[in-house]
Amino acid sequence: MYTGRFAPSPTGPLHAGSLVAALASWLDARAANGRWLIRIEDVDTARCNASAAERILAQLAACGLVSDAPPLRQSTRGARYQQALDALLAQGLAYPCGCTRRDIDAALAARGLTHQRHGERPYPGTCREGLHGKPARAWRFQTERYVSNWPETHEQQARAASFLIEQATLHWHDRRLGCQQQNVPQAVGDFLLRRADGLWAYQLAVVVDDADQGVTDVVRGEDLADNTPRQLLLQAALGLPAPRYLHTPLVRAADGEKLSKQHGAPALDLGDPLVALCAAAGVLGLPAPPAAAPLADALAFWVGAWRATYNRAP
Ligand code: GLU
Repeated sequence: MYTGRFAPSPTGPLHAGSLVAALASWLDARAANGRWLIRIEDVDTARCNASAAERILAQLAACGLVSDAPPLRQSTRGARYQQALDALLAQGLAYPCGCTRRDIDAALAARGLTHQRHGERPYPGTCREGLHGKPARAWRFQTERYVSNWPETHEQQARAASFLIEQATLHWHDRRLGCQQQNVPQAVGDFLLRRADGLWAYQLAVVVDDADQGVTDVVRGEDLADNTPRQLLLQAALGLPAPRYLHTPLVRAADGEKLSKQHGAPALDLGDPLVALCAAAGVLGLPAPPAAAPLADALAFWVGAWRATYNRAP
């Protein structure tokens, strides 16, 4: 059965950008007569708080977007994430890492690579063959090894998950963006599964949760698109089915930057939820609903428009 989800991180209230992803995932689920779930991604306990989660749920409910099951909270899921990490360790696909940020920067600098402020910091692989006497701080995925052994071991899984790896580049299909590609070892390297501060990394948590919740379709903001190849690799490594992916357009602030909480995006003004929803629908390229349509009718109108635009048969 089609299962979609919206997975906000409760670091603050919903803003105009997150409403676009929420509405799109809800419309896609309704257009497919499927289930729609809310997952509270509060894995980063220092940055998240319970009142923001409650506020987001209330904001979504005011917009007529209500989860078909009680929301799952990542803060309750540590045991499942540990099982997944153990399964990767048992296959030699994860390893402990003792590097501090400074160690990583020094190793990168020694190779003539400097870390860009907002860029990824591809891990130079220092602890891949052992900790060199350092204590384990974090756990990483063996990206290089997994991808370079790909043709012999994983062709079938990739076919099932409809992606392809050729010369270390992973090719995948996005329902809106079309063919996408990333050389994962080069772009992100051996990425984190568990962070040095003990927190579970987003990549591992999201893959385990999507699978446990039976998510068939991930619909989320385009800023997350470049995480997809890492998630496809983890799904394959854990023997989990891969969902389909659709990444939605981003809402830009006046200066062209993506609207985000970090960027100081204002909370949604839900004095009139329909006004906020119309703006979100506009970003998705959907037409305005008939004048004076009540909220439920506007949502039903957009389900039809979504089907026509994103081509999903009921
Ligand atoms: N929690 C993530 C965010 O708020 C979204 C994760 C996802 O949809 O995969 O950016």
